[in-house]
Amino acid sequence: MEFTSARKLTKTIKIGNISIGGNAPVSIQSMTNTDTRNVDATLKQICDLEAVGCEIIRLAVPDREAAQALCTIKKATNIPVVADIHFDHELALIAINGGVDKVRINPGNIGSFENVKKVADAANYKGIPIRIGVNAGSVEKELLAKYGAPTAEAMVESALRHGDILEKAGFYNIVYSLKASSVPMTIAAYRLMSASCGYPLHLGITEAGTEFFASVKSSIGIGCLLAEGIGDTIRVSVTGDPLVEIKIGREILKSLGLRNDGADVISCPTCGRCQINIIPIAEEINQRLSGIRKPLKIAIMGCAVNGPGEAKEADIGIAGGKGEALLFKKGKIIRKIPEDSIVSELMDEINKILEV
Ligand code: SF4
Repeated sequence: MEFTSARKLTKTIKIGNISIGGNAPVSIQSMTNTDTRNVDATLKQICDLEAVGCEIIRLAVPDREAAQALCTIKKATNIPVVADIHFDHELALIAINGGVDKVRINPGNIGSFENVKKVADAANYKGIPIRIGVNAGSVEKELLAKYGAPTAEAMVESALRHGDILEKAGFYNIVYSLKASSVPMTIAAYRLMSASCGYPLHLGITEAGTEFFASVKSSIGIGCLLAEGIGDTIRVSVTGDPLVEIKIGREILKSLGLRNDGADVISCPTCGRCQINIIPIAEEINQRLSGIRKPLKIAIMGCAVNGPGEAKEADIGIAGGKGEALLFKKGKIIRKIPEDSIVSELMDEINKILEV
């Protein structure tokens, strides 16, 4: 039985060479936290993010200089680039004409319909999408007055209002996001939005905090929605290194069986039965395998209670004994290894599998 509900079939939108929505795999994206005007630093961070699995990258475009830098950056990278713009339609036009792959802008904040139409026409001409990104913290005053607070309903009404403006301008290449720092409110908003429209949804919990807190909140919020079949692309927000966002995002997708690229390291919590030091072994193996893309299941288990069962189901695994461990490969016991060479022998066997 599948754990996740069938994905809701949304409209397929192209962002550079990546599709989101429809039957496309759920993609992982992040946002640079460098100054966009610093082209070298931003390109270096994009390169690092791409290396750990980032598939779409968004850059803040606060002014004209940043918009021009974005165009230079776009030419020097292969990953789809999204321009994040607030209020200023001129910046959107510079980014679109400079070859950006998507723009995040809320048309209701641009000003006149004439300006919205200019952005919509330019994006239509280039065939690029626009993301309408509603945040609970910036819901319009009249909606706050109507609902009394930034509720899920207020967020959805705000998003649909922005969407109506784009559709009136003849633009239908839309992605929506509805982020709040409250996990229940975010879940409620996306559920409502999913029931209200067929455009793809970009999921995220905003202002989720530092690594530990962001990891928990995002896993629950994004994970709950994905398990219900809602969501087409994800961004985990972390106060910290954006590389961590990708790491968490990949684990969310792998945990739900929505992506299987990379290592899945199963390790037991250890208990009084354990007679080898499992924790540093598991940490070292996780560290060494953090960059691999090939699907690989590794089991690092402390004893013979659950160890052989898990190790047999994995591509490679160990079940600890007294100062040693049994090494399993593809369901079979290969040999016994002494505790002090577990990491090196496991890595030798893993590398043999990866080379095939
Ligand atoms: Fe304890 Fe063994 Fe289970 Fe690990 S596998 S938690 S050592 S019983």
